[in-house]
This record gives sequence, structure tokens and C-alpha cells, in this order.
Amino acid sequence: MALIKDPISLTKAMWRGFLGKCPNCGNGHLFERFLKVADHCEMCGEEFHHHRADDFPAYLVIIAVGHAIVPVILAVEIEYAPPVWLQLVVWLPLTLFSALFLLQPTKGAIVGLQWQTGMHGFEGSRQRRLAEAALHLNAAAPSKAA
Ligand SMILES: [Zn+2]
Repeated sequence: MALIKDPISLTKAMWRGFLGKCPNCGNGHLFERFLKVADHCEMCGEEFHHHRADDFPAYLVIIAVGHAIVPVILAVEIEYAPPVWLQLVVWLPLTLFSALFLLQPTKGAIVGLQWQTGMHGFEGSRQRRLAEAALHLNAAAPSKAA
């Protein structure tokens, strides 16, 4: 018996989520509002209300933005020692907008990860995808015994 592979890879599902698209069809919208995940896809009907992204996307954004901006702040301070007011005017908005820019894509990628791996309430969806893939596999390569 051949190992049945999920037709939508983890990378593809997370990338579609990162772009704010439905991880299943890649066409519908994953988000209803800025950080509010839609209950279901308006194109294919895939349900998203099972997701449990919680605070994980925010933690990832803090780690990513912190690791990108803090070394630059330290390097600029060591090299040029600009006045504090100038640093506040530059670094605070840069940090804020970087975090806001990355928050929705990161949450979408996490929902895509949960959807593709069948976490939380997505297991039924995953089983359905695998069953459909098995049907297509059997239809494409009929048994030699028949
Ligand atoms: Zn969809």
C-alpha cells in the first residue's frame, strides 16, 4: 500500500496563510478583519473556526522584530551615539509598524500550520483530504489484480 501524501504540503498551507488566503483552496480570504480569522472560506467553504493560534503569532513577531531591530539599534548607538529623542522618533515607529505588518501574515501562517497538520478541530478536514487523495491515487493507478 502506497503512503498517501497530503495534496497540500505544510509549506504551501503556511504560505497561503501567510498571504491571508485560504490554506485549502488558496483563493478565499482567511481573515475577516485585521486579526479576526473568518469562520469559513467564502470560496470553498473550508471551516477555520477550529484554529487556536492564541498568542503564538505575537510571540513569533516579538522574536523576529526584536532580533532584527535590537542589533541595529545597538550598532547605531555604538557607532554614532545619536541623541535619545532622535532614536525614539526612529526606532519606536519602526518597531511598531514592523510588528503590525508581520502580525497578520504570521497568524495566517500559524493557522495554515494548524490546518495542514490537523491540529485542534482540523483533524476531520485532514482526514477528508487524505481520503480524497487516496481515491485519486486509486483512480489513477487501478489495481493489477482486477
Ligand atoms: Zn477556500
